[in-house]
Amino acid sequence: MRIVYIIIFCALLSTILLWLGRFGKLRKRYAAGAALASILLASTLLLLAVLPGNSFYGPVLTHGSAAKKQIALTFDDGPYPPYTQQLLKVLAEKQVHATFFMVGENAAKHPEIVRAVQAAGHEIALHAGKHQDLLKLDASELAANIASGKSTLEGLTGRKLRYMRPPHGFKDWQVMQALEGAGLQAVNWSVIPRDWTNPGVQRIVDRVCFAAEPGAIVLLHDGDSPKNAAPREQTVAAVGLIIDQLREEKYEFVTVSEMEK
Ligand SMILES: [Zn+2]
Repeated sequence: MRIVYIIIFCALLSTILLWLGRFGKLRKRYAAGAALASILLASTLLLLAVLPGNSFYGPVLTHGSAAKKQIALTFDDGPYPPYTQQLLKVLAEKQVHATFFMVGENAAKHPEIVRAVQAAGHEIALHAGKHQDLLKLDASELAANIASGKSTLEGLTGRKLRYMRPPHGFKDWQVMQALEGAGLQAVNWSVIPRDWTNPGVQRIVDRVCFAAEPGAIVLLHDGDSPKNAAPREQTVAAVGLIIDQLREEKYEFVTVSEMEK
């Protein structure tokens, strides 16, 4: 069942109820109460679909064990030259492995970057075939989006993908079912510094370090899908500082699959 249909149904239902109350077919108080309940149901389902930290529609990995002082840096929307390569340089200098949630069509345009990410020992995961809001796609478009991204990345890396982060972290029952059908586990995050808004290097660093806790999965961006227009210098500059600061606090940097061990 798609959440959009439920929301449309609830909106129609509440309108009908209010009309029935207005024209005396239902007691106004009951009509208003039922309409409110219907709107609340739709709003709750929508919030659960767009908020990253819940598993209401199916299991979503948002953090690792709080018992280990580990942190996973994750990068969405790439590959995106020159920022992905710049980031690889920073991560190599700091000897940190991260997880890259790549967009299939970007990967197809920049296969050499995908190979460089893999050769550097980072984990490659799927973000989407195309960077679309999966909640808005019908079942066949959804399956095609995931299948195209998966086959592009598996073709380039020669390895089976394990994880997918749906664009914006949005999911409903159908998205979760499609991921399961493709053999992929959903991964969202627990720390979101909103680096894609380019708020300033120090602000990105502060937001991550303030929210960091054992088992945190940090959402950052080496890309800017689907527009591929915004710069990512701030994220690249912030990453080295984040690593230095959190290392001082004795954090160990791991990939998502290392965090799951
Ligand atoms: Zn994205």
